[in-house]
Amino acid sequence: MGDYDVLFEQVQIGPKTAPNRFYQVPHCNGLGHLRPAALAAMRGIKAEGGWGVVCTEEVEIHPTSDLSPYIEGRLWDDDDVPGLRLMTDAVHQHGALAGIELTHAGLDAPNLYSRLPPLGPRSEGVLGGGGFEPVQSRAMTRRDFADVRRWHRNAALRARDAGFDIVYCYAAHGLTLPMQLLSRRHNDRTDEYGGSLTNRVRLLRELIEDTKDAVGSDCAVAVRLAVDELIGPRGITYDGEAREILGLLAELPDLWDVNISGWDNDSATSRFAPEGHQEPYISFVKSLTTKPVVGVGRYTSPDAMVSAVRRGVLDLIGAARPSIADPYLPRKVREGRLASIRECIGCNICVASDPKSVPIRCTQNPTMGEEWRRGWHPDRIPVRRNDAEVMVIGAGPAGLEAARALGERGHRVQLLDARAQLGGRAQREALLPGLAAWRRVADWRLGEIDRLDTVATFPSSPMTAADVLDAGARHVVVATGATWRRDGRGRSTGRPVPGHHQDGVFTPDDVLDDLASGQWRLPSGPVVIYDDDHYVMGGLLAELLARRGNDVTLVTAAPLVSYWTQYTLEQDRIEARLRELDVRIVARATLSRIGPEHVDLESVVDAAPIVVPRQAVVLVGDRAPQTSLHDGLVGALEDGRLQSLRLVGDADAPGLIAQAVFSGHLAAQEFGEEPDRDAVGFRR
Ligand code: ADP
Ligand code: SF4
Repeated sequence: MGDYDVLFEQVQIGPKTAPNRFYQVPHCNGLGHLRPAALAAMRGIKAEGGWGVVCTEEVEIHPTSDLSPYIEGRLWDDDDVPGLRLMTDAVHQHGALAGIELTHAGLDAPNLYSRLPPLGPRSEGVLGGGGFEPVQSRAMTRRDFADVRRWHRNAALRARDAGFDIVYCYAAHGLTLPMQLLSRRHNDRTDEYGGSLTNRVRLLRELIEDTKDAVGSDCAVAVRLAVDELIGPRGITYDGEAREILGLLAELPDLWDVNISGWDNDSATSRFAPEGHQEPYISFVKSLTTKPVVGVGRYTSPDAMVSAVRRGVLDLIGAARPSIADPYLPRKVREGRLASIRECIGCNICVASDPKSVPIRCTQNPTMGEEWRRGWHPDRIPVRRNDAEVMVIGAGPAGLEAARALGERGHRVQLLDARAQLGGRAQREALLPGLAAWRRVADWRLGEIDRLDTVATFPSSPMTAADVLDAGARHVVVATGATWRRDGRGRSTGRPVPGHHQDGVFTPDDVLDDLASGQWRLPSGPVVIYDDDHYVMGGLLAELLARRGNDVTLVTAAPLVSYWTQYTLEQDRIEARLRELDVRIVARATLSRIGPEHVDLESVVDAAPIVVPRQAVVLVGDRAPQTSLHDGLVGALEDGRLQSLRLVGDADAPGLIAQAVFSGHLAAQEFGEEPDRDAVGFRR
């Protein structure tokens, strides 16, 4: 420890004492009120892993703050107390404090389930539920304000009864009434809740005072405040109104939890924001209050954490994503297992579970969201059931995770890959602009494998079925990945693109090969990229090629470029970057033919054909699972030369890196038992 002692100092927060400076700030998880046992298990493991404070996600205090279909916390009445009690018990079991983020979502709540009118500073279209719900809020009346205060107070009392130690008043992310009232964009009221900042801050002040009055002797009262919206003077700025708000309320709460707004800024991906990216905005806060301050910035390095404390930026190191990627991060620091910290890669696949209303998953941590339903643990795995030795072929995310987890279970593992460099797509895609942190998927696993004496690695070992059998393997996991299809077939037309055989037609694998070798085959003239994948690859290649000087046209059948990145909160930034780089974007069009000098596009919405000149074309369609090795071994399984054979990762079903890691982990967990193909496989 030594150098990191400061991180393990206690911090007084009002009437409560945090056991250390590791603070899991509120984060959504797709478990919420619907899956309280799963939620409790997930939060409990964070406490077990050493987080001194473990918070809920936003918790709705009333049916007028109904965020359905998103699955958040809920504390509408006494019936919701037992579910939350499961969480506080799980957290307290490990000596941590439990925090609850009470929320009236105001303009963010479409109230689709409760069917009540949304409440807002004025009547306007609601902001939440994806942003385009055809419903407006009611301009709050005096009685509404009194109601909201009473609901918040009652929720605070219930939170105390549910066992919470820290109760939040939440004014951040644009997601709550107190923040919407602070905002001049939404608040043009002329009564005591509008106009001057003193008036606009009134509800937040009242909620703090009410909460202190109701539970202040038993619980600490925290305020979560957005100190900058990154929209300049149209919004709250750290050197403008945020200072004044802090000045008005400085000593009122017991804790300041400060960040930048909205969620896309607060949880910016590593492609767009480095570790500690919020410091320029939040570092003024400590100069205006004597109360402890917590903030976030995707801190995964204990050195950066110590530095943030020593420089007087933060008292408590807030983390959502670093605690998701490694719930055991604090404990690893304490035990000196620094190399074993599984660092968040900043991809926001965890975030995507929230708008999808499914249990949270994580690229780096395949056990996230599986703690209760499959009984998985982020730092422990059951020991092997037998002495079987396993050959894993393919050292991408799936093969690396399968080999690591099997080795951790105590099996002897041989991990082979055709390439000289292990890591598969995690290593290759990390060469693309802004994705350097994605390498951590490979690096962490290679580091763990190095530590284990059970796993031997064999790079530069292309394997055939005969090689596998000649080597005497009895148990084989095939993780040979997928390659991008050369014919551009994808979901939007369902057929190969006519003309794909010609010169100058490339796939993302070709570009990645060129990037790795430094030998560039793509011509320097106009390039058309056809994106029928819709996650990051098409946009990344457009960025890469535009930076290299190509004249780039990016074509997609979707209404937006990199459509799916809306769920990782990146779409706006990706599109803005491409526009900056003068990439021409043609949305809602399919590629109907590649000619020698032009491509023909067909608009999804109008009849006029579109012709774009091309020297090169890059087809980002479906991927082809590499199953030939597996298929060549099926006979050996049937005639008993192999005892087990399992296909995992992209070779099984191409998808996200998160899915490949999960697939490899599942194979390792299930190894040694015959999976029941008729069973669901997890608790519900
Ligand atoms: P995943 O995402 O499923 O882990 P990747 O494409 O990242 O898949 O990794 C697959 C790895 O498998 C690549 O590194 C590739 O070199 C390796 N591979 C594919 N076929 C063979 C083979 N026949 N023998 C050895 N390695 C192979
Ligand atoms: Fe980090 Fe990605 Fe895991 Fe989220 S999904 S915690 S961003 S590694």
